[in-house]
Amino acid sequence: MANKVVKFGGSSLADANQFRKVADIIKSDSKRKYVIPSAPGKRYSDDIKITDMLYKCCELAGSGMDFSELFNAIKERYNGIISELGLDMSLDEEFSSIENELKARPARDFAASRGEFLNGKVLARYLGFSFVDAADVIIFDNKGTLLLEETVKAVRERLKGLENAVIPGFYGRTVEGFIKTFSRGGSDVTGSIIANAVRADIYENWTDVSGFLVADPRIVDDPDVIGTITYRELRELAYMGASVLHEEAIFPVRSAGIPINIKNTNRPEDPGTMIVSDDYDFRRESLSHTITGIAGRKGFSTINIEKAMMNSETGFGMKVLKVLYDNGLSFEHMPSGIDTMSITVDSSKLEPVRDKVLSGIRRAVSPDHLEIEDGIAVLAIVGRRMKNTRGTVARIFAALAHARINVKMIDQGSSELNVIIGVSEHDLSEAIRRIYDMFINSEKSI
Ligand code: ASP
Repeated sequence: MANKVVKFGGSSLADANQFRKVADIIKSDSKRKYVIPSAPGKRYSDDIKITDMLYKCCELAGSGMDFSELFNAIKERYNGIISELGLDMSLDEEFSSIENELKARPARDFAASRGEFLNGKVLARYLGFSFVDAADVIIFDNKGTLLLEETVKAVRERLKGLENAVIPGFYGRTVEGFIKTFSRGGSDVTGSIIANAVRADIYENWTDVSGFLVADPRIVDDPDVIGTITYRELRELAYMGASVLHEEAIFPVRSAGIPINIKNTNRPEDPGTMIVSDDYDFRRESLSHTITGIAGRKGFSTINIEKAMMNSETGFGMKVLKVLYDNGLSFEHMPSGIDTMSITVDSSKLEPVRDKVLSGIRRAVSPDHLEIEDGIAVLAIVGRRMKNTRGTVARIFAALAHARINVKMIDQGSSELNVIIGVSEHDLSEAIRRIYDMFINSEKSI
């Protein structure tokens, strides 16, 4: 039967007013049957998230200090929501058992998980949905790795016969019975797992933005929202630091071919961003800019190696990479010329082994010239349509040349899904703006 799994982030459930919006959204579509809430987030910019308050309580409890004042503030947040919504319920029993548990065994994951647990109880009551404790269905091994198969089985069994349910995000339990959380922002992962287990038509991830943006709004003024993006494109952009979604939230839905829709709780009429499988038929799409998104990251260095006749020296690349391997250094990109090779690495990882890498390469391949250039930013221009569009790279370079931005490295993956460019860190923002103008603004005016 058709159903949707809907996850609401912390800002979507920060106070009673947000709860009302969430309930309206859920009630407006009877397919929205399985709801995954986060803990109450920030109501205003310097507010504190419930999760952070709980971590702090645990820290205080761990060092034998009194945490009652902070814990009272947590109680007040929930009680405020309960009374403003006019709900006939009390969490007093839960509060005191959490407080006692923290005094007896202050475990971080247990403490943090209670934010979602309590919020789930309130939301279930408000919606009139069943409450399903995530500890009964999300299962980890003793090392903290999710056991997907066991989890899917437990979810299906537990949800069988339930018309609808609220399942708190962020945590589960280990096979030994301890509460375990995902990393921060992990309610996204819970939603994805539940969507997989119930074979949802769609996984809706409700947050406080209307989807992924084509570029970082701190760099480009009021950038467009990406209408549709594939999982692979998303991965490319996320790697460059663009993110709205927890990285581990992709796999469970991707493997089941379930699309994700990023939606805005404060503007539910906005279509948001659809994340779809790589074989999606894009003829169904109306829009279309050549590129899907641009993202960039600072903090890279390039190791530039030159040697006459490098191309005919068998094993040259292997010897160089062996030096990196011996020093535990992984590389990000490696474009090469006939007699040159340039390896882009993360500067912070290079720093501790810098001298050893330099002397190792000298010993291994006796280069004519060897240098490290720091202060490099790498930007990725990502787009599934680039493959079928001629002149994309030329347009990127024209945009950069007009701005007198020097390109230090280029790398186009064989999938033609992205073009990666290295520039000086101080040119990064301007480069992103110019490319945005070239592809988004100018294509709009055609
Ligand atoms: N409440 C948790 C956090 O703040 C998990 C989540 O919101 O997804 O990280």
